[in-house]
Amino acid sequence: MTRLDAEATETVERPVAGDAPRSLLLHAREVPLGGVRGMKVSRALPQRELPMVGAWCFLDRFGPQVTTMRVEPHPHIGLQTVTWPFAGQTRHRDAIGSDVVIARGQLNIMTSGAGISHSEYSVGDDPVETDALQLWVALPESRRHGEPGFERHVDLPIVDLGGGAAAVVLVGHFGEVSSPAVMHTPIVGAEVFVPAGTRVTLPLDPRWEHAIVGVDGAPLVVSDPAPVAVPANDLLYLGVGREGVEIAADTDATVFLLGGEPFEDDIVMWWNFVGRSHDEIVAAREDWEAGSPRFGHVVAHGDERIPAPPMPTVRLTRRRRRP
Ligand code: MN
Repeated sequence: MTRLDAEATETVERPVAGDAPRSLLLHAREVPLGGVRGMKVSRALPQRELPMVGAWCFLDRFGPQVTTMRVEPHPHIGLQTVTWPFAGQTRHRDAIGSDVVIARGQLNIMTSGAGISHSEYSVGDDPVETDALQLWVALPESRRHGEPGFERHVDLPIVDLGGGAAAVVLVGHFGEVSSPAVMHTPIVGAEVFVPAGTRVTLPLDPRWEHAIVGVDGAPLVVSDPAPVAVPANDLLYLGVGREGVEIAADTDATVFLLGGEPFEDDIVMWWNFVGRSHDEIVAAREDWEAGSPRFGHVVAHGDERIPAPPMPTVRLTRRRRRP
């Protein structure tokens, strides 16, 4: 996934403190992704009040919609992309030779390190039902200057939560189980199904911050001071200091749990880049525009590529995580 909106004024206003349990519902916004057919995505993260949850720094849902996805080659630095389809098939190609199609139940993780480029297409030329999450995870200092990588996982651990409820652990650690995906900070990302008429408790690490994102149905997060309904694509920030969170549903519901250790650094995020300074972002942008080998060449593509937007006229500043 790429961003056509560079959001030059992407400052964090009124940052919410993550030093205690919170219950803050943040609404996703519709963002045009561009292209001939004007595909739209719902973006739940980042928010003006909340730049990150653990190392998670970006969450888009593209769909459900009938579309022909053509996200041409574009670059990334300083992050991992986590792609999780709900419907439809997505073909991923990148500059380290990966060329794979993923469907429901399969996970793609691309690690940019210092630089990679990739493309994302739906399969075939006709519009098809498409629905997926793409999240970005900021890489820590120890990994962000390293080599690019790509992993695909088709056999992810599932945690039985009782009463027909279950969690698929995409990345990191949840309860007693761990995903095989290689991550670089303490983190969790899990899809949780809550059947109609049940109430489940998700175990949480109280040292981590967490959020619940609505996927499907009408889940109710039963937390103090009052229960909160989490509509599809919206994000309920839970802060830190919780041993667990209880979720109830009158009809079948699905949520996405994200969380992790509060991230070590304030980051600078612009377009498809995550860095630590304005100058780093400028250098990455210039390297992409110059066709630098830093980003390689996406396999089975010609010259097509997404050009970088112009830099904003102001210097990019770090997204402060705490007031
Ligand atoms: Mn991308």
